[in-house]
Amino acid sequence: MSQTLAEPIARLIEEFGKLPGVGPKTAQRLTFYLLRQPAEEAQLLAQAIVDVKEQIILCGVCFNLSATDPCQFCAAAGRDHAQICVVEEPLDILAIDRTGTFKGVYHVLHGSFSPMEGVLEDDLRIRELVERVRQGAVEEVILATNATVEGEATANLVRLRLRPLGVRVTRLAQGLPIGSDLEYADDYTLTRALEGRREY
Ligand SMILES: [Zn+2]
Repeated sequence: MSQTLAEPIARLIEEFGKLPGVGPKTAQRLTFYLLRQPAEEAQLLAQAIVDVKEQIILCGVCFNLSATDPCQFCAAAGRDHAQICVVEEPLDILAIDRTGTFKGVYHVLHGSFSPMEGVLEDDLRIRELVERVRQGAVEEVILATNATVEGEATANLVRLRLRPLGVRVTRLAQGLPIGSDLEYADDYTLTRALEGRREY
């Protein structure tokens, strides 16, 4: 970082630079953009960041990010609570729900099984899913983990844990590009993958 920059400017550039997908150049551009904006604009951004950290919690049922507990999906009477779609990250819910194909509820694992990277079974919300299935009138669990090596390993692990319960377990159909994250799949591909899901 250039020493000719005032300390607060250098600090904001450094903070922006920690964000995913933001390189040094973009961090500088964002910082100087904000410097040109009225103080109220910067205040709105700062407040939005504080609010999201203070007000967003995990749904106690599905572990989705939410301002309420239970979340909008778990609380909805119009959704099919006998069908649970299991995803790796909250963003995946956005992708699937955007298609309008799925009317059930969700379960967020918060990651994928990856011992090489230190993510073990207990780091994921698998036990909570098993407990949900054990308690409720769940008829089908759809494994919608990513089409990656880790996503496949995760689906396999969840299936193993659910097997003793005898619940129907399905997996999204092939068609999602191999090695891809669900959140980047287009609506058409996702809809086909959901409709073509198979026993797993
Ligand atoms: Zn929920």
